[in-house]
Formats: sequence, C-alpha cells, structure tokens
Amino acid sequence: MHISSMIPANARARAQANVADYSAECAQFSWEAAFRRLAFLPSGGINMGYEAIDRHVLEGRGDEVALRWLGGDGSRLEFTYRDFEARTNQVANALQKLGVESGDHVYTLLGRVPALYFMVLGALKAGAVVTPLFSSFGPEPVLTRLNRGKAKALLTSRRLYDRTVASIRERATDLEHVLITDDICGSEGLLQFDHLVEPSDTRFSIAPTDPEHPALLHFTSGTTGVPKGALHVHAAICAHRETARVALDLKPDDVFWCTADPGWVTGTSYGILAPMALGATVLVTEAEFDTTEWYRTLERERVTVWYTAPTAIRRLMRSGASEAQRFDLSALRFIASVGEPLNPEAVTWGVEAFGIPIHDNWWQTETGGIMIANLAACDVFPGSMGRPLPGITAAVLRRREDGEIARTGGEVEQISDPDEEGELALRAGWPSMFRSYVDNQERYDKCFRDDWYLTGDIVRRDRNGYYWFVARGDDVIKTSGHLVGPFEVESALLEHPAVAEAAVIGIPDPIAGNVVKAFVSLRDGYDPSDSMRQDLMAFARHRLGAVIAPRSIEFSNDIPKTRSGKVLRRLLRARTLGLPEGDLSTLEVSHP
Ligand code: ATP
Ligand code: MG
Repeated sequence: MHISSMIPANARARAQANVADYSAECAQFSWEAAFRRLAFLPSGGINMGYEAIDRHVLEGRGDEVALRWLGGDGSRLEFTYRDFEARTNQVANALQKLGVESGDHVYTLLGRVPALYFMVLGALKAGAVVTPLFSSFGPEPVLTRLNRGKAKALLTSRRLYDRTVASIRERATDLEHVLITDDICGSEGLLQFDHLVEPSDTRFSIAPTDPEHPALLHFTSGTTGVPKGALHVHAAICAHRETARVALDLKPDDVFWCTADPGWVTGTSYGILAPMALGATVLVTEAEFDTTEWYRTLERERVTVWYTAPTAIRRLMRSGASEAQRFDLSALRFIASVGEPLNPEAVTWGVEAFGIPIHDNWWQTETGGIMIANLAACDVFPGSMGRPLPGITAAVLRRREDGEIARTGGEVEQISDPDEEGELALRAGWPSMFRSYVDNQERYDKCFRDDWYLTGDIVRRDRNGYYWFVARGDDVIKTSGHLVGPFEVESALLEHPAVAEAAVIGIPDPIAGNVVKAFVSLRDGYDPSDSMRQDLMAFARHRLGAVIAPRSIEFSNDIPKTRSGKVLRRLLRARTLGLPEGDLSTLEVSHP
C-alpha cells in the first residue's frame, strides 16, 4: 500500500515520551541493561509476581493503586499494590496447601473479575504455569485446552462451572482441583476460593525462580487453524516491562486501560504484567464493548494510555468522530492498537475523534510482547505498523517457489528492496520469545531457520525502516499472476463512507487462478442494494485497479471473528466454497 500522508508527532508527545529519539534508543539499548532494571528475587532469580507487585511495596509505592476494577453492575473497587501483595501471597499459600507444586499448571475460566488477577499473580509466585481462558469458551474448547496444558487446578465461577466445566470434568485427565469464586452450595468436589484463600498467611516467601522457569501458557487465536499452545518463561517480564515503556509510553503514574481479555495474550502481557511491572494503575472493566460506555469510561476514569484493537476502533468509527468529541478525553495521551492491521482510515479517524493518531503495533502470542510499533514521539504513517523496538532485530526474508526460505552463501536472504514483499522474521533471543508449542515440537522447529524466528506474516519495509503489513502468509490471494493482501483491499473499501467493515478472500477461478471476493458490512443508515454494490465495486476499482479490486461483493452483517476480534477469513473461505469449517473454538458467537 502506498500511503503518502504522514502524521508528525506533536511537540508535546515528543517532550513527554519515555523514548524521545528512536535511533538513539536503539543504539544504546541492550537486554543485559534491561534485565538490570528488574528487581530480582532476594532468594535469587526472576519471578513475574515479584516484579509486578512486591518490588513496588518494597520500593515504597505500596499505597499506589494497582487495579481499579469497574464491575458490570456499576460497582467500583480499588486495590493497592500492598493489597495485591497480601492477596497474591494468600493465593500462593493456598495453592501450595492444595498440593500445587512448581511447574504444575493452573487455569482460570472467568470473566474479568478481581479473583482472576489475584490467581494469575499468586500462582506465578507459587511457581505454577498459568493459563487464563476466555470465559465464553464452550465445554469442548475448554476440555482440549485443559488437557493440552495438563491443568491441575482451575478457578472458575459457579455459573461457568455448571455451564461449561461440569459436563467435561471427568475427561479432564489431570484436573485435581476446581476452585469456585462464589457459591459452591450442594456440589461435590468443588472448593470455595475465598474459604481457601482468606485464612492463608499474607506473607509468602517466593522460592528462587530460574528465569527460564515456565510461567504462562497461551493459546493462539486460531485465526489460521487449530490454536497452538505457546509456552513463556518468567524472564519474559523483562520484555513486558521494556516494551510497555517504549511502545506504550507507559509511566508509573498512568491510568492504563487495555481492553483485551486475559484469555488472549494481550490481556495478560499488557492487561496485567507489563503495566504492573512499571507500577502503573491498571483499569479493568468487567462489561463488554459498548460505544457510549467506553467513552464514558475514558472520560470518568481519566485514562491516560489506552490499548485496544482494530475491531473495537472500527465499531467506534460507526458512530462517527462527533460521538467521541462529546466527551472530555483531555487526559488521554496515547492510544495504541494491536491484533490485526489497523486501516489507515482508522488512524486518521483517531486524529479527528481524539486529537491524536492511533498507534498501531504488531506482535504475536509467540513473541510474548510487542515487537514492532509506532512510538509516541515518532511520526506516524497511517497503515504502517511502525519499526522494530530497541533490542529487536527484524528482517524481511524471501521464500522460494517451493516454499523454502531462500539462501545466499549459506545465509538466509534478506530483502532490502522497499517495494518487495517477504516474510517477517525476528532474530531469536528476546526474553519473551516462546520456548515451545506444548505437544508440538515439530511445529515449533518449523518456525526457525538458523537463528531467525519466522512469523508467517508477509510484510514490506520502506526506505525509512517502517514495516507495512501485507497479509498472513495463508491469506495471500494469487490472482492473474499478482499477489494480493486482503488488508489492502479491505482498507480501500473502508474509505467508502457506507462501509463499516470488510473482509476479503480469494476464491478459485479457472482463468485467473483466484479472484478477489469481499464481504462488506454497511454503516447504520445505508442499505444493501445492487446499486450500492455497483458503487462499491467502482469505488474499489478506482482506488485499486481492476486486477486487485473485488470481482464480487457480498453484504454481510455477520463477518465471523475470533474472540480476540480478528476476522476469520479461513471460515469465510470455507463457507463460501462449501469446505469443512475446521476448528471453531475461538469463533466469537455474536449476540443480537
Ligand atoms: P493462529 O496463530 O492460531 O492462527 P493468530 O495468529 O491470530 O492465530 P495471535 O497470536 O493472537 O494469533 O495473533 C498474531 C497475529 O495477528 C500476527 O501474526 C498477525 O497476523 C496479526 N497481527 C497482530 N498485530 C497486527 C498488526 N498490528 N498488524 C497486522 N497484523 C497483526
Ligand atoms: Mg499466529
């Protein structure tokens, strides 16, 4: 995509930013120095729970608010770092008493309630490996994940237990303990969380923790197939902390709202660990998306840094920038987005709605933390996901016709031409890199060539070193000898005033190989009709040219998405072509 517009970083952002000069920061950054900024356990090693909580109490910031929780019923609770220290120590003691040992796996299946946050951090202190699951998963997706991670203990609510866990519990082969956050009355084999935790000692001595000790098991979003279980270690907290400092411009006095659920890696890495490692106040809302409620939350809570996803931004855009302008969002200093490509239209809309651009950044479950980002103090090119963070070496690699990574002179071949697309690769070795795919070593090994981690995403790097997302490798459409990324077509359609959302796939064609097909959902006030279709086709042809523009457009108000908000193009393709739908465990079921 060739977007020439540029949004220069404003002087205030530059003056205030943690990183004022990208190149200087890259030149002086080292992971060794970053590790030295951690507190380290008195008993030795690195423990995420200690870095996220205890260090702040020890350093005299115990009375600062760690978590501000907004309940779905309008309730509002605050927990200081000192509160958190006591609660998570109690959880760690309670888990040990149950027989949960270092390396055992502990899961949560909960909405965004305080107990979830206590459990995650308490279990990390006890040396357990933690997996938060989306509360909306059905029984089978929960069972598969429990068994793939050999879950020993699970924390859930009574309602979710009855709805999701009871029917599969017998088949969860390693599951010994089910803890319930609320009522257990009349049930066999359930433990009440508060009854276990409250009598426990508020002091806990964290055992020496090897930085390579497993800490988190996260399943990928399942956008391209069966979700993979990526294992992360305690040392990852170093990357969480640094990336939040650099890419989210986070500071200890920030009120930080990450809208992601901890069932998705973003909601744990940046919804819990990163902001707490920096001593910020984490805002958590129990309720799901609602345009007016979100603006009200930003205003009332004086949110300063906001991290969200393109799907949410596109939903906000439906109501127009004027809706945002009704609120006093003067506290908001920085907005970032992740999870899917952020359409240029959304970035410029951010300027209109909030007075600041939305900063796209890129990472994956496997990378454990942000890798490529638009920094607060840097110019933004709408449509670009930014530049590699300090400490991250990225490259664009060429794949040969047969699918193998091209080599010259024994080395992988790096693309330097700014117009040539290739696979995004990262030089292995940053602290939050996944250490395995549980139960799939072969798949893990396939992700590496020499010391490069292959991301599976196709990108382009421009002359200024900015990266532009083209497509997931699996989504690239080959049409009449051209390679088309769905994002480019979707972004062009989104520029049309009637379009709220678009998803683009390739469908087989005897002459062209494949042709581009678009699914479009219209904004309120626009109706699907033949003339609207013709109008959109003409609009796309004008912007993209005849080869790339969609050959057909279908109106749909139900573009399938994952629970983390990503368009499931593989499902659209399967449905269009009448093929098997594949793993649907992460499909978001829309509620009318
Ligand atoms: P699966 O691996 O199971 O198919 P997934 O790749 O969607 O699912 P995640 O790890 O949640 O699982 O998502 C990472 C992917 O999301 C990236 O590889 C990329 O394709 C996409 N992505 C994330 N951020 C961005 C971004 N800023 N721009 C473009 N794509 C992004
Ligand atoms: Mg992936």
